[in-house]
Amino acid sequence: MRTKVAIIGAGPAGLLLGQLLHNYGIDNVILERQNPEYVLGRIRAGLLEEGTVKLLDEVGAGSRAHAEGLVHHGIELAFGGSRHRIDMNAATGKTVMIYGQTEVTLDLMNARKKAGLSSVYEAADVHPHNFDTDHPRLTYVKDGTTHEISCDFIAGCDGFHGVSRASVKPDAIETFERVYPFGWLGILSETPPVSHELIYSNHARGFALCTMRSTRRSRYYVQCPLDDRVEDWSDERFWDELKRRLDQKAADSLITGPSIEKSIAPLRSFVAEPMRFGRMFLAGDAAHIVPPTGAKGMNLAASDAHYLATALRENYDEKSSAGLNNYSTTALKRVWKAVRFSWWMTSMLHRFPDDGNFGARIQLAELDYVVHSKAAMTSLAENYVGLPF
Ligand SMILES: Cc1cc2nc3c(=O)[nH]c(=O)nc-3n(C[C@H](O)[C@H](O)[C@H](O)COP(=O)(O)OP(=O)(O)OC[C@H]3O[C@@H](n4cnc5c(N)ncnc54)[C@H](O)[C@@H]3O)c2cc1C
Repeated sequence: MRTKVAIIGAGPAGLLLGQLLHNYGIDNVILERQNPEYVLGRIRAGLLEEGTVKLLDEVGAGSRAHAEGLVHHGIELAFGGSRHRIDMNAATGKTVMIYGQTEVTLDLMNARKKAGLSSVYEAADVHPHNFDTDHPRLTYVKDGTTHEISCDFIAGCDGFHGVSRASVKPDAIETFERVYPFGWLGILSETPPVSHELIYSNHARGFALCTMRSTRRSRYYVQCPLDDRVEDWSDERFWDELKRRLDQKAADSLITGPSIEKSIAPLRSFVAEPMRFGRMFLAGDAAHIVPPTGAKGMNLAASDAHYLATALRENYDEKSSAGLNNYSTTALKRVWKAVRFSWWMTSMLHRFPDDGNFGARIQLAELDYVVHSKAAMTSLAENYVGLPF
């Protein structure tokens, strides 16, 4: 098989890249290790920046998000027993949209199906080859048979544990990492959200986040030790702990119910540089990971896909390799700003075991400053709604 761009991974980065390339008349194939149901079953991100929604619109996959997504104008920061609203729309003129990653993925999958584009699910043993030459190719195994795809370019959109980054010679890549000493225990429940906007809570018992997927489906998180196991957390224990970390009004109005999903995610910041290796480009979680506190993971995957698709279009339409040459530098500038913001939000809101009471007081001073200084509030809002791309 031959294609122009072979994409590894059918998460948000790979699917969006595939649709953008199709819009630009560039044929592409997606190879995905899992089956579609597995990909759609992964409960992950749920907040879209305006730029991400625009990209979905651009590829004709945004209509359900506009119909069903919840547009939010602000968030609330809870600390010291009360809540303080950050009016992001007043500060920036922008909003964010609550719309689950599972729904984004489904809409992009449907758009791909409608366009008749080629995707190979359950592709085992995917390997990129010769990407440091002009003749890159991919091999994979499907139903016991080995197949080969020759292509002009490879897009590694295969997430943090994917094969693309792992195929690069170690001396060609530099990585930067911070592993946080805690995780997020999250549950999904068919209950109305406690508040119509997100509540980020700094509490002596640890961080908590009240978010949602719709007006009927809530997503709640509590900071937990890394060695906790999901089995240790009954629904009852979770709800009790969440209530203790919220202000009284929120705790009193919280509607609880059985969890329909419960999981623990470790928190990590990670960046690999560069994001280009000859004719292979990394995009999304394959190149970087942020802790979910800033809601940036899926949005970065979208901006990478945009930068890469634009660069590939310039390459084919204008015979210019400038965009491809600049891809890594351009994408990393935005990535590092999101990494900084996610690290800052994480640092300000969580209990760090080694920071003691001094650290806790510094956090409270910072939160108090953020909610009372127009400049600080605007800075948070600007980053939260997403820096331009
Ligand atoms: C548990 C968890 C919870 C998260 N929660 C949030 C959140 O609340 N908010 C937020 O903003 N972000 C969150 N994120 C991050 C967000 O989901 C990611 O940033 C986003 O999924 C990145 O999209 P992607 O396409 O780059 O990677 P992925 O979504 O990881 O997609 C990569 C795809 O590549 C496939 N793949 C991997 N290896 C291979 C291979 N060898 N061959 C073929 N295919 C392969 C995978 O199956 C997958 O489908 C979370 C992530 C995780 C893991």
